[in-house]
Amino acid sequence: TAPELIRNFSIIAHIDHGKSTLADRMLQLTGVVDQRQMRAQYLDRMDIERERGITIKSQAVRMPWEEEGVAYALNMIDTPGHVDFTYEVSRSLAACEGAVLLVDAAQGIEAQTLANLYLAMENDLTIIPVLNKIDLPAAQPEKYAEELAKLIGCEPEDCLKVSGKTGMGVEALLGEIVRKVPAPVGNPDAPARAMIFDSVYDTYRGVVTYVRVVDGMLHPRERIALMSTKTTHELLEIGVSSPEPVPTKGLGVGEVGYLITGVKDVRQSKVGDTVTNNAKPASEALEGYREPLPMVFSGLYPIDGSDYGPLREALDKLKLSDAALVYEPESSVALGFGFRCGFLGLLHLEIVRERLEREFGLDLISTAPNVVYEVTMEDRTQITVTNPSEFPGGKIDEVREPVVRATMLAPSEFIGSIMELCQERRGALRGMDYLSEDRVEMRYTLPLAEIVFDFFDQLKSRTRGYASLDYEPDGDQVAKLVKVDILLQGEPVDAFSTIVHADKAYSYGVMMTGKLRKLIPRQQFEVPIQAAIGARVIARETISAIRKDVLAKCYGGDISRKRKLLERQKEGKKRMKMVGRVEVPQEAFIAALSSD
Ligand code: GDP
Ligand code: MG
Repeated sequence: TAPELIRNFSIIAHIDHGKSTLADRMLQLTGVVDQRQMRAQYLDRMDIERERGITIKSQAVRMPWEEEGVAYALNMIDTPGHVDFTYEVSRSLAACEGAVLLVDAAQGIEAQTLANLYLAMENDLTIIPVLNKIDLPAAQPEKYAEELAKLIGCEPEDCLKVSGKTGMGVEALLGEIVRKVPAPVGNPDAPARAMIFDSVYDTYRGVVTYVRVVDGMLHPRERIALMSTKTTHELLEIGVSSPEPVPTKGLGVGEVGYLITGVKDVRQSKVGDTVTNNAKPASEALEGYREPLPMVFSGLYPIDGSDYGPLREALDKLKLSDAALVYEPESSVALGFGFRCGFLGLLHLEIVRERLEREFGLDLISTAPNVVYEVTMEDRTQITVTNPSEFPGGKIDEVREPVVRATMLAPSEFIGSIMELCQERRGALRGMDYLSEDRVEMRYTLPLAEIVFDFFDQLKSRTRGYASLDYEPDGDQVAKLVKVDILLQGEPVDAFSTIVHADKAYSYGVMMTGKLRKLIPRQQFEVPIQAAIGARVIARETISAIRKDVLAKCYGGDISRKRKLLERQKEGKKRMKMVGRVEVPQEAFIAALSSD
């Protein structure tokens, strides 16, 4: 298709404002998915996406559309809305010329509406403002059209009104996309250059790489080179998703599609890399993406030690479609061999863990998540701590922790509650603006460690669900942080070490020792459980001794019941971990490390 006839656009919105539903209507209207195959949120392919009702991966779909007698090809990229996946969104946006900014007409502008709008503006995209869900009785399209117009600097009449549910206004929106979004530009005669914006591992097809062609053309059967890794491959298949894969005779300027090569090593097809023609290579690679920085770390350990190899393979495969995931091997006295993994946030951690368990059949323990600390010793040595158990003892000069700039939007009646919450979390107010008479935008600087855990849940519950939140990294600050160790019979248990603010160390110690006392079964001797900062004990519990004799319970009972009990006890033993002389069931670790 000639570039003049191509339109590449993305749909961006706050979570639940209806991106995926609107995408469904577009798929139907353009005829790429027929009535029979249609199901809600068609592009959310992963089981996790369907169950949770959220989009995790971006999806690119090509749709034919005729406007005033001219046949166009529209490439739509559906994007996730959650803060943890901003990185996905920004990559998708870099492959587009336009963005449909969708706002729920019953909710108005929310924190991620702003965040996504700013991302689109950074990428110089043409923005089409749209109010969605106008079928809802509670919709106030006129009111929010005004807010939206004020925000992006257009007239309220320029905001389109649609319903992704009923399909109302969606045809007009497609027409607007053709008229307003610029056609892609590139040099068709230059050596081929295509940007890899996503790649996934597919059990049947192997590595599938998604690209946006900038210059030249790619053809099936030719040899391509990946510019950063300098590897060359034969293009076995090239095509477009519509939304099922459709092989084509080539991809030219402005086109979005997929490539299949015989790439075996999943790490070779890197997101952000440039694909070129091996016989006639481009001299310069395209500007890649900024690598996302992991914000939250956690140890992932297989419950069954023999799953260590499979866990590594599974991480390698996930990494391919999830560039933000980082990991390196580590070992723990309590948990054995595993990986220290870095994530963009807690939802990202949860999703990765769930995918490892479901798609790769692994049983995993994850340790309590933590952020990254920079420690400066008195002798000026610098230590980066991604695992609390590596927090240095000795003479520390200062500890720095990452902070974020958080933006919260809420009805003004909740200003007090939000301030209170932010205060508890060591936040500093940076500014406050009224978006309208009764809606306020509050900006805070907050330690990342205070926001990643249950901040969002707290915010929601204290504002009856009305507040929305977005945040971005904003450097670091010095803080009074200490490491709290947990000791069983005087032996530290590395998996339980945590870094907390000095003011919260005591309550953490009391909570954790109390939890463990309930979880660890009594032993033949007394077991003290202590929380300590360095050599100073700040909390203590004791598990008193018993003589364990399970058979005494069924005196005179039948023999098969006794045997069963003995077997069960033996089985339990297998899953015990020894910490010093203390036997701790694996379940106790799991329960103690679970976040509630
Ligand atoms: P996303 O998170 O932006 O992808 O949002 P979804 O498309 O998953 O929609 C979130 C919820 O809003 C779902 O329950 C949809 O059924 C509902 N929804 C989406 N669009 C409309 C609409 O136009 N009208 C109404 N009434 N509900 C809608
Ligand atoms: Mg969605």
